[in-house]
Amino acid sequence: MAEFGYEDVRPDDILNAENAGLIAAEFNFDPIPPLPEDMDLYPTPDPEDKSTLPLRPPVVTIMGHVDHGKTTLLDYLRKSSVAASEFGGITQHIGAFNVALSSGKTITFLDTPGHAAFLNMRQRGANVTDIVILVVAADDGVKAQTEEAIKHAQSAGVPIIVAINKIDREGADVQRVKQDLARHDLYVEDFGGDIQAIPVSGKTGQGMEDLEEATSLLSEILDHRADPTGPVEGHIIEASTKERGRVSTLLIRRGTLKVGDIIVAGTTFARVRTMRNEAGVEVDSVGPGMPTEIDGWRGQPEAGDEFLEAPDEQRANEAIEYRTVTRERIKMAKDMEVIAESRKQEHERREKQAWREEEIAKATKAGIKNPIQYVNELEKAAESDPETKQKREEVPLVLKADVSGSEEACHDYIMTVGNNEVCPKIARSGVGPVTEFDVEFASTANGYIVAFNVEIPQHIRRLAGYHGVKFIENNVIYRLVDDIKAVLEERLPPLVTHKVTGEAKILQTFEIGIGGRKKLRIAGCRVENGMVKRTSKVKVLRRNEVIYQGTLSSLKNVKRDVSEMRKDTECGIGFDNWSDFREGDSIQCYEEVFQKRYL
Ligand code: GDP
Repeated sequence: MAEFGYEDVRPDDILNAENAGLIAAEFNFDPIPPLPEDMDLYPTPDPEDKSTLPLRPPVVTIMGHVDHGKTTLLDYLRKSSVAASEFGGITQHIGAFNVALSSGKTITFLDTPGHAAFLNMRQRGANVTDIVILVVAADDGVKAQTEEAIKHAQSAGVPIIVAINKIDREGADVQRVKQDLARHDLYVEDFGGDIQAIPVSGKTGQGMEDLEEATSLLSEILDHRADPTGPVEGHIIEASTKERGRVSTLLIRRGTLKVGDIIVAGTTFARVRTMRNEAGVEVDSVGPGMPTEIDGWRGQPEAGDEFLEAPDEQRANEAIEYRTVTRERIKMAKDMEVIAESRKQEHERREKQAWREEEIAKATKAGIKNPIQYVNELEKAAESDPETKQKREEVPLVLKADVSGSEEACHDYIMTVGNNEVCPKIARSGVGPVTEFDVEFASTANGYIVAFNVEIPQHIRRLAGYHGVKFIENNVIYRLVDDIKAVLEERLPPLVTHKVTGEAKILQTFEIGIGGRKKLRIAGCRVENGMVKRTSKVKVLRRNEVIYQGTLSSLKNVKRDVSEMRKDTECGIGFDNWSDFREGDSIQCYEEVFQKRYL
């Protein structure tokens, strides 16, 4: 490689695809080219003018702090589900349901309370949710998860309607909630903003119709329209295995799904066998903005995956092959990059160590009194030179999440922590349980495994224990992020402050014989404050400037060696490898106080 002009190559380097291809070509081999992109399927672009398309129901997610009433509101709304009333049944949980208003319009609600539902849908930046209903309990106000929900909705650019819940309760204070929201930069109507805030009670049903009307009104303003013809597209919002096999709930974005259609999601496909609504009744076709549970999957799709229609099974298989090969290739390239990076760091560490040893040897030879301190200074100078300024420390993480939506959300959230000294680096991430490979990978990269809402099998825990790999696990994103913060904080060098424990003034200097012709200069001092200890770290100051920093070589009271001297006593002090003191210099004894630092 060096002959070909590659610089900085080492025997344990891993080649990336590009270089491997070039080298193969040098030896007259043909590298296998990537598969052509047109093997994959792509969504149909939106028409420029949507105004002629029919309106579709908005898709709403309910978010808010725990116990503020998300489930209660959903239960209330679910009772008025269109499918259930039409078929006289009870709404079952399939991940979403559709509700009719007296105006004849309908709204689709995602049926998983909490934030995971929302996050699940954020695959490839495609937000399924059109509107977030933020539930805030009127007797409790804005809380941690309320703030989290506001952040999620705002970062996804999804408009919010506030439902001020539990107004039937004593102690409910709608105005206070509105004020509270304004403090968190969410300005509702009559508080300087245009966000609708509807007082409701999930218990008595009071205000619920107003909430539905407000949602519908906002959807009208936002003008949600979609083409019910052409290739069908949308997202998987839930996937599971039931008695009748693999099922998934789809939310249609455009087109109309019919039995017999072929759809591809991730690296699997389905020929739609049956379609059911939320009342569990079979239906023949479902249009934009509506959910449906289907079966007929060959493999298991993932919540958050986009699905696209394929004209036939052959095209579906081609697209899947393209995706599988591309995904593997990207993953492998990423894995290799991390391994190469960790080897590089190890290499640099060794080089630095060798450099230090060499410099210390040189300094010793040259007669420098304190070679280690000298090399430390040298190193500090090199580091503060912007050219060689060290990069901040990256803590490698292997992220595993339950579904791809939360993987992405965790990823984004995790990357917000850190500072210019230490930060997380997601070296590898994926969906599903923690595997042996994850453990080995984390062990090689010297990192942690972050598990969000996923199982960690016992044998994996044992393997991790054996490799010394630690887990950071939690089912609540912000707690997970707090745990990661704590891990990063451990890597932050502590804040070191000097606590002065004693002060002495040099009154005179003299020399004492220490055998043969050797003499040692001694400072005759008076302790003015605190205590001087034989083992103290000391600084010597001349006109407030530090001229020596180190330790004592001797502490004597007249001729007797002592371990400490108190205020208002006189003593003789010798310093380690230093004797450039004068009368009038002052000595400070100090302790180093190490304080943990936080991000
Ligand atoms: P979630 O954690 O946000 O899903 O909250 P839940 O829907 O489970 O509600 C938490 C508690 O508050 C339950 O005991 C509900 O019965 C109660 N609750 C919810 N909404 C109301 C309401 O409007 N009025 C009253 N009085 N209680 C409510």
